[in-house]
Amino acid sequence: MSQAGSFARWSCTAALICAAVPSFAADKKKEVAAPAPVVPSYYGSQPAIENLDLTMYSKIRDEGFKHSHVMQFAGALSEGIGPRLTGSPNMAKANAWTRDTLTAIGLENAHLEDWGEFGMGWQQINTWARMVSPDPEPLWLQAAPWSPATKGPVTGEAVFLELNDVKDLDKYKGKMAGKVVLIGAMRATPDLTEPLFHRYTTEELAEMETYPTGTGRGGPQLNIQQLIADRARLTALRTAGIKMLTEEGAAAVITPSRDGGKGGGTGIIFDDTGANLVRGAQVKETAVAVPNAVMMIEHYNRLARMLQNHVPVTIEINIDTKFTGDHEHGFNTVAEIPGTDPKLKDQVVMVGGHLDSWISGTGATDNGAGSIVAMEAVRILKALGLKPKRTIRIALWSGEEQGLFGSQGYIKTHFGTFAEVPAAPGAPPAGFGGRARGPLTTTKEWETLDAYYNLDNGTGKVRGVYTQENFAIGPIFEQWIAPLKDLGVTTISYRNTGGTDHLSYDAVGLPGFQYIQDPMDYETRTHHSDMDTYDRLHPLDLEQAAIVEAIFLYNTSEREAMMPRKPFPHPENEQKMAAPIPGIYPNAVAVPDAPAGGGRRRPQ
Ligand SMILES: [Zn+2]
Repeated sequence: MSQAGSFARWSCTAALICAAVPSFAADKKKEVAAPAPVVPSYYGSQPAIENLDLTMYSKIRDEGFKHSHVMQFAGALSEGIGPRLTGSPNMAKANAWTRDTLTAIGLENAHLEDWGEFGMGWQQINTWARMVSPDPEPLWLQAAPWSPATKGPVTGEAVFLELNDVKDLDKYKGKMAGKVVLIGAMRATPDLTEPLFHRYTTEELAEMETYPTGTGRGGPQLNIQQLIADRARLTALRTAGIKMLTEEGAAAVITPSRDGGKGGGTGIIFDDTGANLVRGAQVKETAVAVPNAVMMIEHYNRLARMLQNHVPVTIEINIDTKFTGDHEHGFNTVAEIPGTDPKLKDQVVMVGGHLDSWISGTGATDNGAGSIVAMEAVRILKALGLKPKRTIRIALWSGEEQGLFGSQGYIKTHFGTFAEVPAAPGAPPAGFGGRARGPLTTTKEWETLDAYYNLDNGTGKVRGVYTQENFAIGPIFEQWIAPLKDLGVTTISYRNTGGTDHLSYDAVGLPGFQYIQDPMDYETRTHHSDMDTYDRLHPLDLEQAAIVEAIFLYNTSEREAMMPRKPFPHPENEQKMAAPIPGIYPNAVAVPDAPAGGGRRRPQ
């Protein structure tokens, strides 16, 4: 283990690093001075001109467009295996299939890495419901992840619970046995005035290239205290409601499917964390014990309106699910093209995406797409017989959907950990900007990880890269993508983008990047819904993405210096460094204890 921020023990392993060490030969007669600390190339100055191998660009394009296997991977993964909820039997199949397929295409050291306990193993076998009376109708719904099963098909009177406060539960108390309970507000189905499918325009891409401006750093100021209070109230209400329904023996609970972007959530089912009645539904201790499912909004609204208007409704429902373990572990699939340069082969460039998905579709765009593109990128390089200088490693994560668990576990095992520090009294909890972190301790491997490239925004082609505010890397990427203009890759955005596994690298000061992808109908329709299927994949876009990713891997693996990094993270100092300078307002009066508003500190 190494200490954060210290260069003292970096050894002279790479020619480039050695070249940077000043020669002391001329000073032999003088006192032998302590050698200057060696600055690793990722913190050193970078050459202005990139040495690009355009012949290799041409070969990669040729292989990627003429002999693509990306849709074969897509079919085998999304249809041959299906949805891949972490901890489920299908996730285990996907881990095994990716390991074996990566071996079959020539990668070495393909294996699964256990990142720790996840929760319950679970799968949906079948879910259906119908209105029995007063008007027979099939109803569209799916089990919420980790829902228990009903006792076979059960028929019960439907009840629409209108809850705003724990006290509202009183009027339903003692009446819930055998009922099919609707929980959650009805919602409107907005008019679709804009297309649900979109590719970035030149103007939108140009805007992404600029540093964001405005009056504040994070947009409108949130009332954190109010949000915390609202969440606590909602949690208390849900906990009390679920307890009552479980104790009284409600037959099942039905919740309404949420909306998609631009009103795209009509006629479909989003089945993700939002469909769960509690957070951490996969953990046995916090799991929901009453069978629950999420329903397409049009059907939900009809049932709720009928019940609001005092029309008795009877529903037959069958939620058939299976638990396959209480304490399942999560695994990442990892494989390599070993490096061949004696001085650089221990350095590693990584590519990946998350392999896990939710359950209502087949996880084709989220994130089958990112997984198969990474597989195709390494396939292209193997097909070309590349013997890379640095090691190229693919990692396909699981547990991403529940909180980046797979990539965070990998980072912890291989690269570094933050010391835990107790939250300051009155500090907001995690999820509201509260993130008490102590100093980062890094490993020897941290020094050898060159860069990580991630793809997880659906099926759209690559339009550029987010640099995550790594300003030294922008000009390098700009040169790399210049020959790819005809493929639509034009944009280097210095902005941060969030939501997926590159963040795990970025957090520990390693270069981790997510590509800019055409949005398509990802946010509006396919992301976490039953529309996330093979048919939504765009083969040419995926071929393009694999080519871009293969070129990025090649350039990184062959480059003389390692990729530049952002400054070493020091979360333990952030608050102190960002604190206002006290007493700089003229006429400020002295106040005790360093006020945040910048008053004059009382002399000690
Ligand atoms: Zn995803």
